[in-house]
Amino acid sequence: MGAYDKLKQEAYEANMEIPRQDLAIFTWGNASAFDWDREVCAIKPSGVAYDELSPEHMVVLKLDGTAAEGAMRPSSDTATHLVMYRYFGRESGIRGICHTHSPYAVSWAQAKKPVPIFGTTHADHYYKQIPVTEELTDEAIQGDYEIETGNVIVDALKSADPKELEMILVAGHGPFTWGSDAKKAVYNSRVLEEIALMAMNTLIINPEASQLKQSLRDKHYQRKHGKNAYYGQN
Ligand SMILES: [Zn+2]
Repeated sequence: MGAYDKLKQEAYEANMEIPRQDLAIFTWGNASAFDWDREVCAIKPSGVAYDELSPEHMVVLKLDGTAAEGAMRPSSDTATHLVMYRYFGRESGIRGICHTHSPYAVSWAQAKKPVPIFGTTHADHYYKQIPVTEELTDEAIQGDYEIETGNVIVDALKSADPKELEMILVAGHGPFTWGSDAKKAVYNSRVLEEIALMAMNTLIINPEASQLKQSLRDKHYQRKHGKNAYYGQN
């Protein structure tokens, strides 16, 4: 048994869930799992197809990006994940991040529009629209691009609580999602994809559609997430 086997297994299973949930073709997605006790991250290796992936392939890195274990080169988006983990911090309890190029979420990111909150499916997961970041500047793109991608995400998150909002769109790029573990981060990517599809269809049917009224947003969010939540079996 290797020191990081459990974390690598978690990262592997989350990455395999990405194609299973129809969130990526080819290698267009990655998920990472984080261990706050040891401050290490396990992430998908760069450019390896899902059907060739195994738990041993997962690359383990320290919070500063230096290698901890693994022979392969990590996902090219690793630096973005690490900027986000550093911002979230241990107290957040956030232990997983997912990034894909799922088409409906990407469509909103490319339109540089936040996803409006039109219905209760959205309100079950967040009570406001899903934000989109600022565009990266030319200097940022030519500089440490992946770090700067993390920085625009962090900037956009300053007006939200990442324990409530677990998803964001990077302008012109696509979705990043997170959660209490890597599996939850992938789940949130699937949720965002559905919300993005439904919002687009809503605007096709009625370009003047209004966003969900506040009382209904509060009702749906609070029954799942509030201190008096009553959804589910616990
Ligand atoms: Zn990407």
